[in-house]
Amino acid sequence: MIKYQLMHAKSMLVGSPDEWFRSGWNLNTYRGCEHACNYCYARSHKYLIHSTEEAFDRTIFVKINAPQVLRRELEKLSKKGKKGIICFNSASDPYQPCEVKYKISRKVLGVIKDYHFPCHIMMKSDLILRDLDLLREVSERAWCTVSFTITTFELAELLEPKAPEPERRLNAMKKLSEEGVSTGILLMPIIPYLTDNKENIEEIVERGAESGAEYVIPGEMTLRDAQKERFMKLLEETFPELVEKYEALYKNSIPGEEYRSKVTEIIKSVCHKHKMPMRIPEPRIKRYVQSELLP
Ligand code: SF4
Repeated sequence: MIKYQLMHAKSMLVGSPDEWFRSGWNLNTYRGCEHACNYCYARSHKYLIHSTEEAFDRTIFVKINAPQVLRRELEKLSKKGKKGIICFNSASDPYQPCEVKYKISRKVLGVIKDYHFPCHIMMKSDLILRDLDLLREVSERAWCTVSFTITTFELAELLEPKAPEPERRLNAMKKLSEEGVSTGILLMPIIPYLTDNKENIEEIVERGAESGAEYVIPGEMTLRDAQKERFMKLLEETFPELVEKYEALYKNSIPGEEYRSKVTEIIKSVCHKHKMPMRIPEPRIKRYVQSELLP
């Protein structure tokens, strides 16, 4: 059973500019994530705020005062004339099931709209269609893009047991792009020997393009402490023949350089074939953002 715990956040915006996500600030409307992906990097002690990695998908902290805190922060930034892209959620899904009840992400989006800030939303859920009205307004007033994570079609049930199926994500992407909201794909994490093959990557890029994706941002899978333990346990149970290969590949928290270069070449060639940029296109952002991009 999932437990929801209301909490009061002291602050919302974390100023960590990220070139890939085009972000000036990050925020998280929840702590923990019901989607329970077995590869989730937020299970690592580096990011984990729960007592154990198992608690990450069983106890969800709801930042009940997030809209009020964000309003204060954006008011201050606006007075200083600062504007930058707000990226959310970086370590949980803003449209996980509890959002139906609490609507924290919707309220946060409303504050972003009020202050004419641009934003980048990252998630795996078609629940975002509920907020189409706000997404349209943010797109018109500033700029907005929605990135759907899709790593695999075939292994989604195993790797992302409680997230909406990739088909639903694609349908939502299509609907948003038809309504004029920019969308793209987070092709991350790429799981070595399971989702790194050309066929899988091509299927994601091709079907993403058909559904209106304007970009694909790829990313390798990190494996750290508690996150690694969980993922390796799954591997032992389902693909035991890969355990040794993983031990050889992950001398550190990221795969070796040679492997990464090979996979990057595959992604580059597929994206080139489908004329798909491997980052959020810059000109679209500059057109809408009036003042400086980063804090
Ligand atoms: S949806 Fe994202 S944040 Fe949630 S468990 Fe999956 S990878 Fe982690």
